[in-house]
Amino acid sequence: MTRYGMIIDVDRCTGCYACFLTCRDEHAGHDHRPVALAQPDGQAWIKVGEQERGSFPKVKVSYVPVPCQHCADAACMGAATGGAVYRRKDGIVIIDPDKAAGQRGIVSACPYGAVFWNEERNSPQKCTFCAHLLDDGWKQPRCVEACPTLAIVFGDLDDPASEVNKRRAEKPLEDLLPKLATKPLVSYHCLPKRFLCGEIVLGDRPDQCAVGIAVTLRNGRQTLTTVTDNYGDFEFLNLDVDADFILSIEHAGYKPRELAASAAAEFNLGTIVLEASG
Ligand code: SF4
Ligand code: SF4
Repeated sequence: MTRYGMIIDVDRCTGCYACFLTCRDEHAGHDHRPVALAQPDGQAWIKVGEQERGSFPKVKVSYVPVPCQHCADAACMGAATGGAVYRRKDGIVIIDPDKAAGQRGIVSACPYGAVFWNEERNSPQKCTFCAHLLDDGWKQPRCVEACPTLAIVFGDLDDPASEVNKRRAEKPLEDLLPKLATKPLVSYHCLPKRFLCGEIVLGDRPDQCAVGIAVTLRNGRQTLTTVTDNYGDFEFLNLDVDADFILSIEHAGYKPRELAASAAAEFNLGTIVLEASG
């Protein structure tokens, strides 16, 4: 039996909005009964959220596309009455356009903000995984097909050879909001996390880039090491948001440095000068 799933790799997403625009092309102005009413202006069934971290000149921007997560534990289903929201055998969560009429509570029940209210037609609406196309033999929804960087993949979770299963094996899988434990059919790779970075300058040679200097970041649980690049810059990626670290720098001929990098610390530790020991 088919059981659909989607993976969104945030590292591959360039924020081009092709998914959003193609979803509009598929759904705006067209009812796709029995799974969806036409998408009116102002609805984003796949929202491309922009997340900026760090401070100038060390800034990272990530784009996180968010459609309905097609949760196995779906709050929208719990809020609906009369079977207005149901899960198909393939896992897709559908809002029945007729039964859901007047049920505004379905909108506020979704913890992902994935359901929108159509004022004119008195109905909640959301992403359907393009169920009308899948039922016509399509292998993937329109937004997946449109993504130029293959950031979104889709397929049958029960088929070991499916693209979605190949991708699942490539990197650790994450839920968008893991604390909610809604068991979504949408999983993510590389959701944005805290990073720490800085620049090292040798006090007696400030006109040269301090290349290849070892930098260590540690706390009770983790020890991470890196070296400065050709510009004397270093960075540590994918750190726990709530972890305090000690940053240590050791280089032959220079006094060692230790800096506290608390959970509340700036992403950018700035310029760190190593003084010659001699
Ligand atoms: S993301 Fe929201 S609308 Fe989609 S299944 Fe989960 S609770 Fe329902
Ligand atoms: S799966 Fe279909 S309905 Fe859902 S966001 Fe993509 S294009 Fe829109």
